[in-house]
Amino acid sequence: MSEVFVRVALDHPLPTLFDYRCDSSEPPAVGTLVSVPFGKRHVVGLICEVVAHSDVPAERLRNVEKVCTTCPPVSEHWLALAAFAADYYQRGLGEVALPALPQSLRDASRWARLFAPQEHYRLTPEGRTALPDALPARATALRKLAQALADADCLAGADARALHPKALATLDAWQTQGWVMLEVIDAAAVTAAAVLPDAPAPALPTLTGEQADAVEAIRDADGFAPFLLHGVTGSGKTEVYLRALAGILAARPDAQALVLVPEINLTPQFEAAFRARFAALDASAIVTLHSGLAEGERARNWFAAHTGRARIVLGTRLAVLASLPKLAIIVVDEEHDPAYKQQEGLRYSARDLAIYRAKQLGVPVVLGSATPSLESWWQADQGRYKRLTLSRRAVADAALPSVRLIDLEDERRRGRASIEGLSGPLIAALKTRLERGEQSLVFLNRRGYAPQLACDACGWVAGCPRCSAYVVLHKPERALRCHHCGWESRIPRSCPECGNVDIAPLGRGTQRVEETLAGAVPGARVLRIDADSTRRKGSAQALFSDVHAGEVDILVGTQMIAKGHDFRRVSLVGVLNADTALFSHDFRASERLFAQLMQVSGRAGRAGLPGEVLVQTRYPRHALYHALGRHDYVGFANATLAERRDAHLPPFVYQALLRAEGRTLEAALAFLQQAAAELAQIPAAGRVTVYDAVPLTIVKVMHVHRAQLLVESASRAALQATLRAWQPLLRALKGVLRWSLEVDPLDI
Ligand code: ADP
Ligand code: ZN
Ligand code: ZN
Repeated sequence: MSEVFVRVALDHPLPTLFDYRCDSSEPPAVGTLVSVPFGKRHVVGLICEVVAHSDVPAERLRNVEKVCTTCPPVSEHWLALAAFAADYYQRGLGEVALPALPQSLRDASRWARLFAPQEHYRLTPEGRTALPDALPARATALRKLAQALADADCLAGADARALHPKALATLDAWQTQGWVMLEVIDAAAVTAAAVLPDAPAPALPTLTGEQADAVEAIRDADGFAPFLLHGVTGSGKTEVYLRALAGILAARPDAQALVLVPEINLTPQFEAAFRARFAALDASAIVTLHSGLAEGERARNWFAAHTGRARIVLGTRLAVLASLPKLAIIVVDEEHDPAYKQQEGLRYSARDLAIYRAKQLGVPVVLGSATPSLESWWQADQGRYKRLTLSRRAVADAALPSVRLIDLEDERRRGRASIEGLSGPLIAALKTRLERGEQSLVFLNRRGYAPQLACDACGWVAGCPRCSAYVVLHKPERALRCHHCGWESRIPRSCPECGNVDIAPLGRGTQRVEETLAGAVPGARVLRIDADSTRRKGSAQALFSDVHAGEVDILVGTQMIAKGHDFRRVSLVGVLNADTALFSHDFRASERLFAQLMQVSGRAGRAGLPGEVLVQTRYPRHALYHALGRHDYVGFANATLAERRDAHLPPFVYQALLRAEGRTLEAALAFLQQAAAELAQIPAAGRVTVYDAVPLTIVKVMHVHRAQLLVESASRAALQATLRAWQPLLRALKGVLRWSLEVDPLDI
């Protein structure tokens, strides 16, 4: 028996592959899943190399226990993508690759049942032309087989054999001819593939000139081509994606497209648009991938992408790591959205990986946004991304909304009435929309009833016993909740410090605004959408359909309502509490605020009703609001980039954060100081700046104290080399509960 060795990636922090012996005359291919012994456990890993020799002493080598035959190996491209992400984000390959696979694939005991291989045959376009004419007239059995193939979307091997005992041999021959293709599909996916009733080709809107130019540029792209599609809200970016995809999918019968959206809640709207447009594809050729799917469905959809059966994959950030052997175009919608950044574990940016992936495969990638991230805008400035501009709204007569700032100081000075933080002009405008039967949207980025519960007499404020943070008052739930650790308690009747019964909520969140609106705008049907009102699976979808169906007059909510939704009857947007972000210590706060306000403003007046945006503020002269009023993203971006350049901030430098969690703040800080000292010894660190270790703003969460150390460099390569050399030194340090490195952090 011949002996080979496989080098396997395991979900383990050590950045190394693990060698195993494989007794096999036919060694499994690179990219195959195997089950191997690891210590006392049995774990699933991915074969990254097959080698004739191992450096591990023979007596320590253990055997591969099981080879997964139900799932075809992942491609070398995919492994290279995972390797890049691992290297870039300073992780082990297995730590990236294995969590990117469906959970059920990582359990070897489920392999046999999971994707029981069923071979299916499908006619290629050439086959459709050639068959059955190429067959002898008397070969009735073969003709029947050809007809069955033409009738069905795809034909299972077993069904073919029922038609003709030698069918499989014939199908093999036809496959060599290029007339049929062979697919391995699991039964579950086939059920999902129920062919849609013959949908008529949808009537396509006539593209605006700018849309047509954008589509043409994307379709004509040759090889790797990054596009920044800068289109104002309502300019029809989705239509551009649809047309570009249609061109690319039609040009190659096996081509796959990946479309990323920032939020699960946006997938249904996109899925509906794609299903309607690509009705000619069978239903299983369009799949979604996001964390809201049940594991079985997610595994099936992943598998459909992996086998090439899915032509369009629509997903949230995790989909960027899906296995897509024939990927031909990537779209990242709302590319500026911070949700593309994974905030735990492997802290990757799905947008950045999308760019890498497109480059690796030599395919176009489209980043779309009304407010591109300054990183992307800067890339376009330098000519690395091609800028495509949609400067006006697509629907005839739909203009961008007018923006009016309501000066809260001025309102107060003039003694104008307001109700619980809702200014007179805003309430009046809400009433007008109600009379006209139009919808309004009230946006504030704070959920709960009030961010604090306080005692006027002694100054007590309700805080979390586990975190250094105030707890948020939730009125419908009758609870105080910590938004950092989930701690919850009943609302006290009196001040626990002094016994005063007049404890009162301070500030306002969405629940309180919902309550105020119900009183201030009599007769209005008010709906709140935020993380609390949509906790149950599917409930967000139900609430959004109520808005679309016109069953809501005023929608109040957090950034969940600001993103991408195509509300047709909203003509007024009110913005509360935006000022808090103006003076944040985070240098990205103003970029984020501006993007949010542009996004939420963009929900108004999309279908021809004149739209109006009212922003309540104490700083009506702030430059950010001025730019917002003029819809001047370009001015804002250029001014902010100039500031960033002067201040040596990203995108002009590259950053990484080392975070430490300790039992005490001193322990966390001491660890970081040691880490900084170690870093100073690294030769490549000459071009790297290390800042002082500092506590996080919310220093304690769940009794754990947190601090961070920022390192940065004008050279990405120098930073990467330093981080690589730093890791083993960090692993040798002790004294904290946990530490982690984040490359390109968004929150500093
Ligand atoms: P964006 O994503 O740029 O904010 P959408 O893609 O949601 O904009 O498009 C806004 C609206 O314009 C949608 O209702 C869409 O159907 C419509 N639309 C897009 N392109 C056209 C067009 N060429 N002609 C008419 N309507 C269009
Ligand atoms: Zn008190
Ligand atoms: Zn807490």
